[in-house]
Amino acid sequence: MKQTINIIGSGFSSLAASCYLAKAGCNVTIFEKNATIGGRARQLKKDGFVFDIGPTWYWMPDVFERFFSDFNKKPSEYYALEKLNPAYSVYYGKDDFITIEDTLEKITKAFEKEESGSSKKLNKFIKDAKDNYEVAIKDLVYNPGISPLELITPTTIKKINQFFSTIKRDVRKEFKNDRLIKILEFPVLFLGAKPSDTPSFYSFMNYADFGLGTFHPKKGMYQVILAIESLAKELGVNIKTESPIDKIIVENGEARGIISNGKTYLSDIVLSGADYHHTETLLDKPYRQYSEKYWSKKTFAPSSLLFYVGFNKKLKHVNHHTLFFDVDFETHAKAIYDTPKWPENPLFYASFPSKTDSSSAPEGKEAGIFLIPLAPGIEDTQELRDQYFEKIISRFENLTSQHVKNDIIFKESFCLNDFIKDYNSYKGNAYGMANTLSQTAFLRPKLKSKKVKNLFFTGQLTVPGPGVPPSLISGKLAANLITKHHS
Ligand SMILES: Cc1cc2nc3c(=O)[nH]c(=O)nc-3n(C[C@H](O)[C@H](O)[C@H](O)COP(=O)(O)OP(=O)(O)OC[C@H]3O[C@@H](n4cnc5c(N)ncnc54)[C@H](O)[C@@H]3O)c2cc1C
Repeated sequence: MKQTINIIGSGFSSLAASCYLAKAGCNVTIFEKNATIGGRARQLKKDGFVFDIGPTWYWMPDVFERFFSDFNKKPSEYYALEKLNPAYSVYYGKDDFITIEDTLEKITKAFEKEESGSSKKLNKFIKDAKDNYEVAIKDLVYNPGISPLELITPTTIKKINQFFSTIKRDVRKEFKNDRLIKILEFPVLFLGAKPSDTPSFYSFMNYADFGLGTFHPKKGMYQVILAIESLAKELGVNIKTESPIDKIIVENGEARGIISNGKTYLSDIVLSGADYHHTETLLDKPYRQYSEKYWSKKTFAPSSLLFYVGFNKKLKHVNHHTLFFDVDFETHAKAIYDTPKWPENPLFYASFPSKTDSSSAPEGKEAGIFLIPLAPGIEDTQELRDQYFEKIISRFENLTSQHVKNDIIFKESFCLNDFIKDYNSYKGNAYGMANTLSQTAFLRPKLKSKKVKNLFFTGQLTVPGPGVPPSLISGKLAANLITKHHS
């Protein structure tokens, strides 16, 4: 008889898992609390402007290809992908920026201009990073995080020393120019941790950046959500929106189904892609695996203050992705990880998708997304949001030498309280749990409940970690465990 599976949430991980489970012959239903699917990767449409609410960087295209190829499909059957050139630019001061182009050859030239002798060092650094990428992405991250032995292979044994040094140390050993250091330390921020807490092995993120490049799906990242939704529906997955789960039903230590909007939906298995901490609150206390103390001791990836802004004109001196690293990173990082508070002078990131994609803004106008990384769990008020918008938009005007404040048609914000309200996120985190050495692989919250039979987890708080590619992988890992468990 067909297994019935109820999935909580419709983020990348849940959608991916639903495809694998439907392909394996299960009867799959997704229950999403919000009115639209996609979780943190939803879309905002306003006055002819279209914004990706969450992810904007499409990195590691091979992971997306691998996902679709598991269903004999290609990403190109669902969305058009463009390699961005330039990939991004980084501001350090007024009219002072470095542009990162689309090939390693061009990037090494830009490095050499900044620091003599750095191109040779960069080629060596990226060669090693590529080697790590092969091991990590092709091999390690597709393990379910059950045992430490998964990490021990003939190749990883040779790289063991890379787990005892950090990205920060490695980069600073080779490069002396502060501007180049900031660029090389930037990719690991996607893992949710500081470069000083990230093992050298994670330099594979630098290969993702410089070696593979930055892509943009035409019409935005939400097209990838729509692509997987379409695949899931082709495979027979049933998707219910506006269906918040209030309880996971457990009988005799076994998950039996869920309750949504007062109705009971029985199933053989429950899989949750909602935030891990929240999912456990849907269980009676004896069935929860991790205590409040456990969660409070974990290093969470940052939250964010985001603004989605419609500009009445085209902006100058910015690219599709533009980073503003004109202030001290260490001070901002301390306000996220050490003594959580609003940073006095924040670094920020801005995306202007309408620079390369005309579908994201009406003609002659610009869509802008601004993001300030923040500590989870801090205060969030409208006054603070307004104060920080003023801070960054004034800096933006000064750094890029243009006036934009009077050209704002609208601005919408999204911050900690919205992460909690919309996604039931623990302390309003944006990117889940950081991937530090002590929170990697088998040391992360488990895909399979140790206390409730037939209850499984997926998503950025479990293995392998935060980011869209890891969430797709997480969906596959959870689905594999379920099908293995029941075969
Ligand atoms: C601002 C921001 C920028 C980012 N930028 C990038 C980027 O550029 N590149 C990149 O690769 N990654 C990026 N990420 C990370 C990436 O978006 C996430 O890692 C990924 O989308 C997480 O997917 P998920 O399935 O784990 O969780 P989610 O997307 O959070 O999905 C969980 C779902 O569960 C639902 N849910 C919660 N509680 C319930 C309930 N009780 N009942 C029913 N449903 C429930 C939620 O509504 C949500 O839809 C970014 C994230 C954010 C927030």
